[in-house]
Amino acid sequence: MTSAETLAAKVLETGCLEGLPAGHFIDGSFTSATNNKTLESFDPGRAKAFAVFAAGSIEDVDQAVESSKRAFENTWRDTAPVERARILLKTSALILENLDRLAVAETLDSGKPLQEALGDVRGAARTFEYYAGACDKLQGDSFPLAGDYIGYSIHEPVGVTAHIIPWNFPISTAARGFAPALAAGCTVVAKPAEQTPFTALMLAKILFDAGLPSGVCNVITGLGAEVGAPLSRHSSVDHITFTGSVQTGRAVMTAAAEEITRVVLELGGKSPVVVLNDANRAQAINGVIGAIYENAGQICSAGSRLVIERGIHAGFVEELVDRVKALRIGHGLTQPDLGPVNSAAHLEKISGFVERARLGGATIATGGSVTEDPSTGGGWFYEATIIDQAQPEDEVVREEIFGPVLTVQVAEDAEHALTLANDCQYGLVAGIYTENFGQAHQLAKRIDAGQIYINEYFAGGIEVPFGGNKKSGFGREKGLEGVRSYCKTKSIAAKIA
Ligand code: NAD
Repeated sequence: MTSAETLAAKVLETGCLEGLPAGHFIDGSFTSATNNKTLESFDPGRAKAFAVFAAGSIEDVDQAVESSKRAFENTWRDTAPVERARILLKTSALILENLDRLAVAETLDSGKPLQEALGDVRGAARTFEYYAGACDKLQGDSFPLAGDYIGYSIHEPVGVTAHIIPWNFPISTAARGFAPALAAGCTVVAKPAEQTPFTALMLAKILFDAGLPSGVCNVITGLGAEVGAPLSRHSSVDHITFTGSVQTGRAVMTAAAEEITRVVLELGGKSPVVVLNDANRAQAINGVIGAIYENAGQICSAGSRLVIERGIHAGFVEELVDRVKALRIGHGLTQPDLGPVNSAAHLEKISGFVERARLGGATIATGGSVTEDPSTGGGWFYEATIIDQAQPEDEVVREEIFGPVLTVQVAEDAEHALTLANDCQYGLVAGIYTENFGQAHQLAKRIDAGQIYINEYFAGGIEVPFGGNKKSGFGREKGLEGVRSYCKTKSIAAKIA
């Protein structure tokens, strides 16, 4: 047994993880909500509450933003880039030292299989390592002005940055926002989702332990309306990175407009996976399964629409159904193939989509029902589902279900596959499976999405910019573009004679 599995087994037995933070993290320490209110967090694998956390309010938001503003003005913006880099590198090391605890907390809170949570935590460590390297390389340009002039630019940190985080990738989303913001010299106020508050709090404490001055990274927990909304309209917030649904993204952007606050919006998706006749079958089948059933389909970039050429459709779907039926359902801490979905409300939402499709005559090739953990009979689970012969106008094709539900659309040829792939309000990701690399790159050029994966879904790492087109949002995280979001360019021109 690995050390993570040993801890997981203990937590499965007791139903809780000792020592989880219960308060906000403000000014370098954990503190209760001003109004002393708390909320419960649930283990989706058992549908049971396992811990409480602070239910913040506008007073807590004000306190955290003021703390971050002070820390920005008095300390962090003037901290030497090399010193910032050392703190981020130390953070990366401390995340890995706490790998098991962070991953088990993530699984308990979100429901995702432990092996995926371990990957997310390792990814968070890598994110801090990557942006540590960027701290002292944020150089400006010089401009070729005629005559007795010189011109140059410098990149300055934007100031206090707010990070509003969803429940499906709590530590990954926190890391991909905090690390570049801190690298640029900005301070952070974060609001994790009310379903998954713990790993962002743990990350803030790790940053502090790594030497980050107090106030540079504050985390406030609570409900969207009571914490997220006041944070997004706060006059001392200079930049908002919002990751979540289109509906909330619209509300955040509207609130930000009042103060002309900069926003990056990472919203939903309904991403196509195009499989052409000449695709490597095994590679494509594995890719399609991972694309939609990882984290039970609760991934913004999930490949939820299979668009497949007619020549291979029948045999491919048959093999896919066999593989999907064999997926092992279970509590995330037992390392299943398919874990629970995050909440009772979300389970109902997923089920509603499939029931309406069934009533409309959909071809449900496998799955299509609410289910349970076979070993405990509990939890919020939905079967791995495939809806074959779906049509472009179907609700299940057009709307983000955010669950383990794959639709299959048949394309007559590559051109038709392109039309089907682009017929979507979202533009986050597209997958392409073909052995014809010229065709793969032709399609990559013409599909309207922020990311294209060829012959491996979810390919690429922190080095590659990530973000959406169309209703999937705008702005880019990850890569060097990710750190530029947190900088403002100042141009300086001088007459020198
Ligand atoms: P959500 O929009 O319901 O919530 C996201 C965050 O916003 C939570 O912290 C929530 O408390 C907060 N919030 C709620 N109301 C608010 C308000 N009025 N003002 C400010 N903040 C508010 O989304 P969710 O259900 O947590 O996450 C699922 C969605 O996130 C899906 O649509 C998914 O595709 C998207 N997502 C996108 C990406 C990406 O990178 N593009 C990544 C992960 C998730």
